[in-house]
Amino acid sequence: MKIAILKETAPGETRCAAIPETVKKFIGLGATVAVERSAGEHALVSDADFEAAGASVGPRAEVLEGAGAILCVLGPDPATLKGAERGALLVGALDPVGRRDAIASYAAAGLEALAMEWMPRISRAQSMDVLSSQSNLAGYKAVIEAADAFGRAFPMMMTAAGTISPAKVFVMGVGVAGLQAIATARRMGAQVSATDVRSATREQILSLGAKPVFVENVAGIEGEGAGGYATEMSPEYQQAQAELVSSHIAKQDIVVTTALIPGKPAPRLISDAQLATMRAGSIVVDLAAEAGGNVEGCVVGERVRRHGVTIIGAANLARSLPADASALFARNLYNFLSAFWDKEAGKPVLADEDELVKGTRLTHGGKIVHERLS
Ligand code: NAD
Repeated sequence: MKIAILKETAPGETRCAAIPETVKKFIGLGATVAVERSAGEHALVSDADFEAAGASVGPRAEVLEGAGAILCVLGPDPATLKGAERGALLVGALDPVGRRDAIASYAAAGLEALAMEWMPRISRAQSMDVLSSQSNLAGYKAVIEAADAFGRAFPMMMTAAGTISPAKVFVMGVGVAGLQAIATARRMGAQVSATDVRSATREQILSLGAKPVFVENVAGIEGEGAGGYATEMSPEYQQAQAELVSSHIAKQDIVVTTALIPGKPAPRLISDAQLATMRAGSIVVDLAAEAGGNVEGCVVGERVRRHGVTIIGAANLARSLPADASALFARNLYNFLSAFWDKEAGKPVLADEDELVKGTRLTHGGKIVHERLS
C-alpha cells in the first residue's frame, strides 16, 4: 500500500504527520511512502531526510495518486484532495464537530476519514492518543512561557547579594497537560500546588512533589471519572471551588489552568475579581483559551494585562515545539495503523466491531457513519 504524507496548510501549523523513523517503519511493514514536498520543513526534517528514509518526495497530486492511506496532522481542505482514490483512509486530527462540511465532503469523495482525537481512552490506545501526546508538550511549554514572561526567577537562590525566594506555581486541572506543567515547574525549582475535580489526581500531585489543594466540603468526582474525563460540576461545588481559589490564588506568582470538559465550554475557574487579588507581575497561562478559557478576560493567542497580571491565552502550544510534536504525532499515527496491519493484505484492515475503529471512523462507503455526527 502507498501511504501519502501531506504538507500542512493551516496558518501557523508547523507539524508534520511523519518523521523518517515512521517512514522507515511503514516501509518495514511492506508499504511505500510518498511525502509532499517540504512537508517537514518546520519540524526540522528535510526532503532529503525523508528520501534517505526511503520515501519519495513530490507535489501533492503525485503523492496522492494511488495512495491507500493519507496521513495529516489537521484535516486538509477537501478541494485539495482531488485525485485521491475512493476507499483511501484519511487519518489525522480532523476536528469532526468543527468541520462537519469538510467531513461530509470526505464522505462524498469516498474517503474513509479517521479522527485521531476521538481515539478511545483505553490502555490499548495510549500509544495512539494524539490529545495526550500534544497536551504533554503543551503543559511543558506553558511553564516555559510563564517563566519567560515572569520578571523573577523560579528557583530559590542564596547569593552573596541576598536570597531569592522560589516562585509559587498553582496548576488548575491535573490531566496530561497539568501533570507535565507540575513536573516542569518542580524541575525548575518552583513551589508547586495543584487542584482538580477528580479525586484520583490527589495521589498523582503528591507523587510529583507538589501540594494538593482540594475542595473538601463538597464531593468532587470519585476516582478517574468516565473515560478519564471530568463533567460539569454542581453549582454548590463551583461555589466551594471559587472560595478555595480566592483564598489560594492571592499568594501565587504563576497560575497554569488546563481544565476542560469534553463537548462543553471550558469551566470558568478564575474571575476578574480573583485576578485582581494577585500580586502585580503575576502570570496566568490559560491552556483552555481555545475552548473558551478558564480565566475571565483571556484572549486566545494573546498576552493581555489586567490588574497588573499578565494573562497568556495559550493557543496550540505543541506547535511551538514542532520537532517533538511531529515525532510524537507521527508515532501515534504509526501505532494506530500498524496495530491493524494485515501482512497478507499488505495494508491495515479495520475491523468494524473494533472499539478503536468505532471510536475514530467518521465516514465509510460514501457516508458519514459516526454516531456522534448523526
Ligand atoms: P482534559 O484535557 O479533558 O482536562 C484537563 C483536566 O481538567 C482534567 O484532569 C479534568 O479533571 C480537569 N478539570 C475539569 N474541570 C475542572 C474544574 N472545574 N476544576 C478543576 N479541574 C477540572 O483531561 P486529559 O488531560 O485529557 O486527561 C484526563 C485523564 O484521562 C487523565 O487521568 C489521563 O491519565 C486520562 N487519559 C487516559 C488515556 C488512555 O488511557 N488512553 C489517554 C489520555 C488521558
